[in-house]
Amino acid sequence: MKRVLGILLATFFALSLWASEGAAPKYVFYFIGDGMGVNQVFGAAEYNEATGYGPAVINFSQFPVRGFVTTVSTSSLVTDSAAAGTALATGVKTYNSAIGLNRDEQPVSNLSEWAKAAGFGTGVATTVGINHATPASFIAHTRVRGNYEDIAIQYMTAPVDFAAGGGFITEKNSGHSPAYFEDMARNAGIAVLHGPQQFKDIASRSGRVLCLSGKAQNSLPYAIDRREDDTTLSDFVSAGISYLWAHYADKGFFFMVEGGKIDNGGHANDAAACFQELNDFASAIDLALDFYEQHPEETLILVTADHETGGLMLGSGQYEMHPERLAGQHMSMDALTALFRKTFLPENEADYVTPSWEQVKAFFREHLGLWDSVEVDEKADEALQEVYHSIFGLEGNRNSSVENLYSSNSRMVTAAVGYLNKAAGFGWSFGSHSGSPVGLYVTGCGAEAFVTVKDNAQIAPTIARLAGYKR
Ligand SMILES: [Zn+2]
Repeated sequence: MKRVLGILLATFFALSLWASEGAAPKYVFYFIGDGMGVNQVFGAAEYNEATGYGPAVINFSQFPVRGFVTTVSTSSLVTDSAAAGTALATGVKTYNSAIGLNRDEQPVSNLSEWAKAAGFGTGVATTVGINHATPASFIAHTRVRGNYEDIAIQYMTAPVDFAAGGGFITEKNSGHSPAYFEDMARNAGIAVLHGPQQFKDIASRSGRVLCLSGKAQNSLPYAIDRREDDTTLSDFVSAGISYLWAHYADKGFFFMVEGGKIDNGGHANDAAACFQELNDFASAIDLALDFYEQHPEETLILVTADHETGGLMLGSGQYEMHPERLAGQHMSMDALTALFRKTFLPENEADYVTPSWEQVKAFFREHLGLWDSVEVDEKADEALQEVYHSIFGLEGNRNSSVENLYSSNSRMVTAAVGYLNKAAGFGWSFGSHSGSPVGLYVTGCGAEAFVTVKDNAQIAPTIARLAGYKR
């Protein structure tokens, strides 16, 4: 079934590629999966097929033009999201941590600026903060990606008609709240909308708009942790398409969309969170594909990544994989840590009762399927018990945690999720980025021009040339 579906999709895309040759793309969608290496894409497909939690064929993996792009920065073979974002947005390589500057720290213009200079509508959407590295590369120019407030301030005058994200990230010691920057946006004449209810009449809005999650957070929750009333990346993309179509149907538009938290799942070595995030990203791409079906001769869709995160392997030492073993995990490692702490480590010391190993086992049986649908062999059982003693034993440290770039998790939860990933056949090498090339997947009008693209810095100039932007 999966193979037939794949072949059908691929044929559809190949036919449309043949039909579109020669014309200039009027509507450009540029999807960037942060931390989305090729193994994340194939891994998500295997996970989906085994668990039914998403489509067994990842839509963009069937695009007619597929290749690999290298991601190196000027300072390292292993890029960060800032240098990669800058290369993807401006076509210029720079050092890790730089946003919109070249290696000599001089500002370089980006796709939003080029598109706007030629009269096109522009959009930027992300699941993380609007001033986080990837969206920032399409908005701002600053020496260090951590200059969140400088980036937020530059957003106020950036040539971006539609923007959407979790919210503004603030700097620790500034004393500013995200609301401070929302007010600044309103004062700059930008309509600030919170949550899908307020996005509904977006087409009738004039002037610039900023769509936020509507909750006090600077990124959307992981897809795997989502509640009914949470805003999704698809909400943002759907609002963006409505808005850009209402104002720029005649001239055309450029729309960058980032799946920002595929990367967080990688940093945490949490395959289920990573794959469900990737599924969510693919759902947002479905909206662009719907648009493309209505405007097949004028729409170009690109999907790529800024880098790979985690050194993910399909296989973890045995000649077999069991992605179905991830079926029992229904929340991210971060959410599981919060629940673990709530269950076993009450804030009030007087309420604390040392949990037994059996109680801790029952917790992971319920929330991960360990010792239930997923067998825990003797060696692993012993290793997990050892972690248990290091936390809850007489000499134990109850708050023992493991840090990754975006979160701090209980050592017990990290060990349990780590074992589950390994048992499922997903092997993680580390908690940082790797220098692996990433995929480039292209369909629609002008897609054939990307056949020769080999490096991430070649993408932006190729888009600009095809679409007629002013560089
Ligand atoms: Zn990262």
